[in-house]
Amino acid sequence: MTGRCASCGNGFDDGSGAIYAMRQLWHKEHFACALCSRQICHRDELRMDAARPLCRDCFVSIRKPPKCA
Ligand SMILES: [Zn+2]
Ligand SMILES: [Zn+2]
Repeated sequence: MTGRCASCGNGFDDGSGAIYAMRQLWHKEHFACALCSRQICHRDELRMDAARPLCRDCFVSIRKPPKCA
């Protein structure tokens, strides 16, 4: 595996899990929600907001229309 983690900028050791997403490589443990820092382990939990990975909960919450008072 060549390339560098988009989060920490380090390379990948043999055997360390790399995730390819948003045309970038990420350490598995560094691929986490940009808002709540929760690790995104499953593809169906992943949502994208511009260049940031977001978990499903945060993605929903930032897109919720403001509540009427
Ligand atoms: Zn990393
Ligand atoms: Zn989140």
